[in-house]
Amino acid sequence: MKDQNKLFTLDEKHLIIGGGLAGISLAHRMEDAGKDFLIVDSGVNHSTSIAAGMINPMVFRTMVKTWKADELFPELIKFYRHLELKVKQNFLFNRSIKRIFSTAHERKLWNERLNDDSYAPYISPSSPIMPEWLDANFGAGTVLTPGYIDSELFLRCNHHYFQTKGKMQKADFNGLKLDESNLNYDGIKYKSITFCEGYKGKDNPYFGYLPLQQTKGEILEVTSNDFQKTEILNRKCFVLPTEAGTFKIGATFAWNTTNLSPTITAKTELQEQLASFSKASYTIINQQAGIRPTVTDRRPLLGEHPIHRGLFIFNGLGTKGYMLAPYFSGQLSRRILHGETLDSEVDIKRFYSKHYK
Ligand SMILES: Cc1cc2nc3c(=O)[nH]c(=O)nc-3n(C[C@H](O)[C@H](O)[C@H](O)COP(=O)(O)OP(=O)(O)OC[C@H]3O[C@@H](n4cnc5c(N)ncnc54)[C@H](O)[C@@H]3O)c2cc1C
Repeated sequence: MKDQNKLFTLDEKHLIIGGGLAGISLAHRMEDAGKDFLIVDSGVNHSTSIAAGMINPMVFRTMVKTWKADELFPELIKFYRHLELKVKQNFLFNRSIKRIFSTAHERKLWNERLNDDSYAPYISPSSPIMPEWLDANFGAGTVLTPGYIDSELFLRCNHHYFQTKGKMQKADFNGLKLDESNLNYDGIKYKSITFCEGYKGKDNPYFGYLPLQQTKGEILEVTSNDFQKTEILNRKCFVLPTEAGTFKIGATFAWNTTNLSPTITAKTELQEQLASFSKASYTIINQQAGIRPTVTDRRPLLGEHPIHRGLFIFNGLGTKGYMLAPYFSGQLSRRILHGETLDSEVDIKRFYSKHYK
């Protein structure tokens, strides 16, 4: 009788491979749903902990709201505040974004959006008073956002939370230990196994066929007496004031590379971008590189393997992972636990036809 109870408990357990933003978010969803789970993470992270963690509802190139902003925003504030309470650590810090317009056309588009009620939660006019070191000939507008997530702190406190509860194991996923026909991994039978491997997902034996790209990004960390501490600046690059009193300048894009070394090319590029709108003085104290898991159609990858049922993927969070993860971890957990339908734009079924009949 005792053994039967044990078997039942194990049957209800869910395995999550990868403890970055995707894995952490899904694990919280599982925990909130009262489900047992284990996260297996290799212990090195090159995206979630490197990210600037900015939450920006606007796409400046076209001056429109980002995809699904109206659904993502209410969910993300609720989700991150809830996590802060669970892990007993604040990591979401309030900052607005000052967008420095680069052309008169951009300013015109912005003013049109200001007259559109559906943009009221996201943008407001900016003070016309500008610091003398800032080149803002075409003016600026303010983006209203919950701010930024201290990404290094986010990863650290969430790992600590799950490790303390015995819900996280430091190990590499080993395909030889998986019997996918009955979802048995390392001698334990799971109800579901979800791969949340970030850019490493490209090498996944089950989901490697999906069009995941590896997009390197680099960020400088600087000290400065000029930059303001309450506002993120954005034009060709961003300047993000951190809680630690430093500023992050980013970010670059380099496609299809897994080289994690910071480069002089990226450093020069960021310095030139900054110099195009700012004469503020600063001192570089650090440079970091990471790799974003991006997708050719710019939508996340969620769903169940077409043949190996019970194997799931949560990946492709791209350049705006901190905005997407709260909403889509909720959707994926309901798919895994209750069979609910996924948004067709993110469901990996959109790529089935090319690879599976
Ligand atoms: C420079 C830069 C700036 C960014 N800025 C922002 C920003 O301002 N705002 C924003 O929203 N997003 C930003 N992002 C994007 C954001 O970081 C990503 O969307 C998000 O962190 C991806 O999370 P993930 O969990 O999918 O991947 P990852 O963070 O890469 O996590 C994957 C985890 O899986 C583990 N893993 C992988 N394979 C295995 C395996 N086989 N076995 C065990 N463990 C494994 C790894 O150890 C890792 O911890 C930025 C990214 C970069 C690089």
